[in-house]
Amino acid sequence: MRKAFHIVLMGPPGGGKGTQARLLEERLKIPHISTGEMLRSAGREGTELGLKAKALIDKGNLVPDEMCIQLMKTELEKPEAKNGFILDGFPRTLRQAEELDTLLDAEKLHLDVVVEIQVPDDYIVDRVVGRFSCVKCGAMYHEKYCLPHVYGKCDACGGTQFMRRIDDNIDTVLSRLAKYRALTAPVLPYYESVGLLKCVDGTGTIEEVKEKIRKVIGH
Ligand code: ADP
Repeated sequence: MRKAFHIVLMGPPGGGKGTQARLLEERLKIPHISTGEMLRSAGREGTELGLKAKALIDKGNLVPDEMCIQLMKTELEKPEAKNGFILDGFPRTLRQAEELDTLLDAEKLHLDVVVEIQVPDDYIVDRVVGRFSCVKCGAMYHEKYCLPHVYGKCDACGGTQFMRRIDDNIDTVLSRLAKYRALTAPVLPYYESVGLLKCVDGTGTIEEVKEKIRKVIGH
């Protein structure tokens, strides 16, 4: 049986984590766990927590650590987490990184690699403001860099409805980026100090970045 593989993907908003996480999920057949997706889905369901999270997300603020840690705990306790996962959007603060270690210890799991997708600030606004996704399957597109092959039809599922995230606008993205640099980037030295961090240049095409990630993780 293939070895379990536990990966964390890090990088700025619009840096390509979600896109690359989906590609890794397809290739390695391990679940993609996105706290952003889970929180947005709770927001759509209209639960009390979901609505609280939505109000924060739509303004470009982080959701409280406790809420995200609780979500992660539930995911890591699922039996499928034993076979591997790709964490996307967690940890986003040092506190979350420490709690993740505790949660993994409790499940007798450990991280194999943390991949930082490096993208300079100048690229981010353009990438985030132009992106949209398929309502049905969540496949991601960009109005300049990655349009569906047939106009108005999702390449992955044939869906014809697309959506943009409320937080993908210029003001919000600048605030998300500032929070990333202040609160999330300090997590990188933490992983570097334990020898888990691998960095890839995220400025190429989706295929190029995918190949670079394949090389650094050795899978
Ligand atoms: P992106 O990386 O493109 O900004 P995500 O989909 O990962 O988007 O997350 C969207 C939003 O969800 C974040 O801006 C933040 O408000 C919230 N969020 C997601 N994960 C976390 C987390 N681990 N801690 C705090 N807030 C989070």
